Amino acid sequence: MKTSTHGAHLTALTRFGAVNAFLVREDDGLTLVDTLMSGSAKAILAAASAAGAPIVRIVLTHGHADHAGSLDDLHAALADVPVLVSAREAKLMDGDPVMEPGEPPLSGARILRTKTRPTALLVPGDRVGSLEVHAAPGHTPGQIALLDPRERTLIAGDSWVTLGGVQAVGKPKWPFPFPSLVSWHRPTALATARTLRGLEPARLAVGHGRVLEQPTGEMERALASAGA
Ligand SMILES: [Zn+2]
Repeated sequence: MKTSTHGAHLTALTRFGAVNAFLVREDDGLTLVDTLMSGSAKAILAAASAAGAPIVRIVLTHGHADHAGSLDDLHAALADVPVLVSAREAKLMDGDPVMEPGEPPLSGARILRTKTRPTALLVPGDRVGSLEVHAAPGHTPGQIALLDPRERTLIAGDSWVTLGGVQAVGKPKWPFPFPSLVSWHRPTALATARTLRGLEPARLAVGHGRVLEQPTGEMERALASAGA
């Protein structure tokens, strides 16, 4: 696993050059955002040790296997650490497939059923340490994005991708169309990509691809090419 630091608070944890989780530094320790695929727990714990602080909370952007895959192993190792998941995603991760009023039918990649139950359910407007919780539906029904206002770092989950070029998820684009192809509802995903660009991030951190500084110009170009 490769680690890289970005600004004063963000460390990216990257496996196979393609999948990211993040450590966010807070006064009381580290917030882990996403858990990579299964088999990553040891490497994540080692990265936290190297960063010199304990993981004090775990938050998921969404429930796909490359984001929630090591949650159960991490929870086993960090039993007292709160696990925070969006209320909408938590229902799906609990195996409840019933859609909310107005939602299109469930499709796209399978949402993982984890043994670990969230300690708290997040809704847009909540805070996780410094991070503001923003709704980011489309890739999955309950995806969230997290904005760190200290440096305007946006952790966008799979609502944006930078692997193979900056793209708004919702319009498949080669060479890495997969986050769009496995999304639940592409028009909703594109609307989310537009909304998140409107947060005027100074740094964009995504599930797949490198961390991008001053991303709004490239985000705007990507939205235009996606017709969003
Ligand atoms: Zn995903």
